[in-house]
Amino acid sequence: MRILVTGGAGFIGSHLCESLLKQGHEALCLDNLFRGSKRNIYPFLNHPCLEFIRHDVVQPILLEVDQIYNLACPASPVHYQYNPVKTVKTNVMGTINMLGMAKRVKARILQASTSEVYGDPQVHPQSEEYWGNVNPIGLRSCYDEGKRVAETLMMDYHRQNKVDIRIARIFNTYGPRMSKDDGRVVSNFIVQALRREPLTVYGDGSQTRSFCYVSDLVRGLEKLMACEGITGPINLGNPTEFSILSLAELVKDLTGTRSQIRFDPLPQDDPTRRRPDISAARKLISWDPEVELKDGLGQTIDYFDELLRAEAKDS
Ligand code: NAD
Ligand code: UDP
Repeated sequence: MRILVTGGAGFIGSHLCESLLKQGHEALCLDNLFRGSKRNIYPFLNHPCLEFIRHDVVQPILLEVDQIYNLACPASPVHYQYNPVKTVKTNVMGTINMLGMAKRVKARILQASTSEVYGDPQVHPQSEEYWGNVNPIGLRSCYDEGKRVAETLMMDYHRQNKVDIRIARIFNTYGPRMSKDDGRVVSNFIVQALRREPLTVYGDGSQTRSFCYVSDLVRGLEKLMACEGITGPINLGNPTEFSILSLAELVKDLTGTRSQIRFDPLPQDDPTRRRPDISAARKLISWDPEVELKDGLGQTIDYFDELLRAEAKDS
């Protein structure tokens, strides 16, 4: 199949493109390189079935494809808050453009949604039926509400135009190819530990997240895309919950760093607890994450260690 991956040079998108190529598909990797990097796709840039398209999803584009994974959107709070209006445009106009393409060429389209649609959840763990607790006017709203509108657009194009849709609500995902200045917690802690800088825990570190390794997530996205008869959102994430402080301790142990932990202020609207209920994914697409946090962190630490050493050599 010819498969379009928007945000294809980003962290998750690059792993997805690589996996699709391995399965014999043609991958169209579209990215405006706002956050992604050609370095992420170097390992397969010369693959005969890869096409890189530098393009912004906010602008329309005409392509002929069989499937679309719409991942284009900055995902780290630091980056989606850098230009919040652009974040909203990417989620609204970008999703409309991709849905328009899906409608025109009759392609199946999967939208990368997020656990952020649940906001600071009052229901725990979060299942797909929960409507969420999102601040519509806060600093995170450009992303949270942007993704909620993207879900609305997906459902309306499905109801109105019979577009074949899939919606993945992705929970915190980590792994190699996150950018070192990404600002998200896993990459921050690992880079800080390797540089022997203090690990910056925001608040008292009692807030929780559930971390999914990227290979598990990509397998989940592909399974969701391949399944028949699901239109509603499906949670994809690892249901094992950790406090941020315990994550910092684990990164310290695994890297053997001498870094201390430093407590910094908690950002506005930072969700207190987050854990996916993945019963629907288990039942409907037979998906379960397999990689344990310490193993996935080990892989990610090796990646950043190599990256930082290579950069130190170059400078
Ligand atoms: P990422 O920032 O590494 O990748 C996003 C990619 O989209 C980048 O390469 C960026 O350059 C590109 N992009 C941004 N705006 C664009 C635009 N207007 N036009 C074209 N390209 C654009 O992030 P990621 O972690 O790989 O996330 C991928 C998707 O998954 C995002 O939609 C994100 O919201 C979603 N998601 C990720 C997580 C996670 O924990 N990683 C959790 C929930 C949802
Ligand atoms: N966090 C932290 N230190 C950091 C970066 C993040 O303590 O250097 C915290 C952040 O406040 C949040 C959690 O880690 O409670 C996850 O943050 P991230 O930005 O990775 O993702 P999100 O908040 O979108 O889940």
